[in-house]
Amino acid sequence: MRPSIIVHGGAGTIPPEMLEAHRQGTLRAVEAGWQVLVEGGSALDAVEQAIVIMEDDETFDAGRGSFLNAEGQVELDAGFMDGSRLLVGAVAAVQFIKNPIRLARAVMEKSDHVLLVAQGAIRFAQKMGFPLCELTDLAVPREFERWLRLLYERAYPAQPAMAQVTGTVGCVALDRNGHIAAGTSTGGTPNKMPGRVGDVPMVGSGFYADDEYGGTSCTGWGESIAKVNLARLALHYLQQTGDPQVATQAAIQVLADKVNGLGGIILLTPDGRPGWHYNTPHMAYAYRTAGMDCAIAVV
Ligand code: ASP
Repeated sequence: MRPSIIVHGGAGTIPPEMLEAHRQGTLRAVEAGWQVLVEGGSALDAVEQAIVIMEDDETFDAGRGSFLNAEGQVELDAGFMDGSRLLVGAVAAVQFIKNPIRLARAVMEKSDHVLLVAQGAIRFAQKMGFPLCELTDLAVPREFERWLRLLYERAYPAQPAMAQVTGTVGCVALDRNGHIAAGTSTGGTPNKMPGRVGDVPMVGSGFYADDEYGGTSCTGWGESIAKVNLARLALHYLQQTGDPQVATQAAIQVLADKVNGLGGIILLTPDGRPGWHYNTPHMAYAYRTAGMDCAIAVV
């Protein structure tokens, strides 16, 4: 089996001055994940590695750089899946964790559960030896300013609701043993209600992996993505059509038609062919498959 990897850095509207940072960030992530795979590492390690790089890159709405919620806090969601054993781990509304994708993986590998939230997830993190960080390790000045702007706009009648923004991160990888893993990590949407959880930690909506069917990671308006189980839906179309581009396109069509949704998907087939599709102005994504000399990144 030949390795393959695809990552995304969010679907939405990326401001012109941030396009290059999204391109570079996804490129760095995909090349790091690729390195893990060519050295014989597992798809799980490649996904974790690629996502940690984007969580640490404040360009993205995941880990450092995440949007703040309505109370000025950062609440993070992440989901992880091992397609060889159908193991799932996810965390939702967690604070003070630098790399929630690592915590999601720990839930998958070291607990009997698939999803831990809020205080319980933080207590589990401490038990697992994860250091807790400060709010200022996650919230950058750009996002404090956005938060203040939104407060002001609400006080002095309102701009229309937040323009579409972006920056959730995700990855799907296939390793030499034919195993697929998928993960997604996000700070959610700007100014979200405290406790709001989107599609990202919901298995089948924000992420899915099954060695037999392929793997997916999603991004976009979480409330719409969750309603159609977008990640699993794309794999259903892949089973029907065998074509990764047709499958992602069909799933996004359902998202748009049924719930007026907005979003994007990345996908790998069980033999490592990549697919992607989105109905937002932009989606940052990058991929590398066997036979390519370097990764391609597109915004
Ligand atoms: N899907 C994420 C959420 O709703 C946001 C995004 O992908 O930009 O939390």
